[in-house]
Amino acid sequence: MQDFIYKANPARVIFGQGTLDQLAEELTLLGITTPLFLSTPQQADQVTEIAETHVSGSAQLFGNAAMHTPTAVTEKALHFLKSAGADGIVSVGGGSTIGLGKALALRTNLPQLVVPTTYAGSEMTPILGETADGVKRTMSSNKVLPDTVIYDIDLTTTLPPRMSGLSGLNAIAHAVEALYAEEANPVTSLIALEAIGALVEALPVIMTDPSDSDARRKAAYGAWLCGVCLGTVGMALHHKLCHTLGGTFDLPHAETHSIVLPHALAYNAPAIPEVMAHLRKAMDTDDPARRLYELGRTVEAPEGLQALGMPEDGIGRAVELAMANPYWNPRPLEAGALHALIRNAHAGAPPS
Ligand code: NAD
Repeated sequence: MQDFIYKANPARVIFGQGTLDQLAEELTLLGITTPLFLSTPQQADQVTEIAETHVSGSAQLFGNAAMHTPTAVTEKALHFLKSAGADGIVSVGGGSTIGLGKALALRTNLPQLVVPTTYAGSEMTPILGETADGVKRTMSSNKVLPDTVIYDIDLTTTLPPRMSGLSGLNAIAHAVEALYAEEANPVTSLIALEAIGALVEALPVIMTDPSDSDARRKAAYGAWLCGVCLGTVGMALHHKLCHTLGGTFDLPHAETHSIVLPHALAYNAPAIPEVMAHLRKAMDTDDPARRLYELGRTVEAPEGLQALGMPEDGIGRAVELAMANPYWNPRPLEAGALHALIRNAHAGAPPS
């Protein structure tokens, strides 16, 4: 075993079913008397009901969280927060709502309680991506790390199966890259393998029975651990490709991850024999990249980047951008091999 540094991010986690019943108690522990609830417009009714059921009196809702945390929305929410006299933030939803909560915590230093309802994993990271004038900037600060996270399986059963699958594959990508990250260490790797095993088992079950509470429990557990991976170590080629492709061709987040991951893993495989051995065991397969590709088919991921609208003549540009300011990666970036990787991902072909 080599020397390593392991950094744990502080957070109190309540995990289970019906755990929202502990919301009031957890708010008291954080010293919050006047919480501001956050949601997207789609979940506003659900979150209003949660606030009314679980918090007596003074809860307020800002229900306009949006994808990619636009600063214009944050400014409106900040104004609302101040006029409501809120002394704490409660984000109920996926990465978009949690992003708004983090942006508000950054500007106010108020405590944050998060109730995640997707598998994106943002609740476990000190990372915030904000968009202003069409440009997304990502920063990392302990000021945005949530203080308390309540996972309540009951809130995840409404996440449609396909969205669950894509969100779950997005989560798996964090754990896969944690295994070969520059700061990879035995503790994060244990967490990553546990996470991958749980999600690979749960997602196909959710596709056939979205109300299966065992599968929902496993998926939320896996997603939590994937978020820990993302918040603990740096990411590599896969994330660089997804950010480049998403930003340049305006491709949807989870879908892009689900298409690129098998190809990025196949690219890195020759450089990470030990990781591949661990993955074979965790995923119960001889070919982890192929298995991830098949999982993409199972969760009805789009047939390649072409199906998301990326033009074929954009492949060369994507290679250039991926090679410029690259993230650390276990296998050096080779333009020809990267071109083949993106071409395969574009066509929806299996990894090679
Ligand atoms: P999302 O938060 O955008 O949610 C997508 C839609 O699903 C929304 O309309 C939402 O209201 C709805 N929804 C959420 N949970 C639901 C449920 N249980 N039932 C029914 N509908 C539900 O999607 P996401 O994938 O969770 O988040 C994506 C965003 O999160 C991206 O902007 C991404 O960059 C960001 N993200 C950030 C981090 C980080 O560490 N900062 C990590 C992962 C993702």
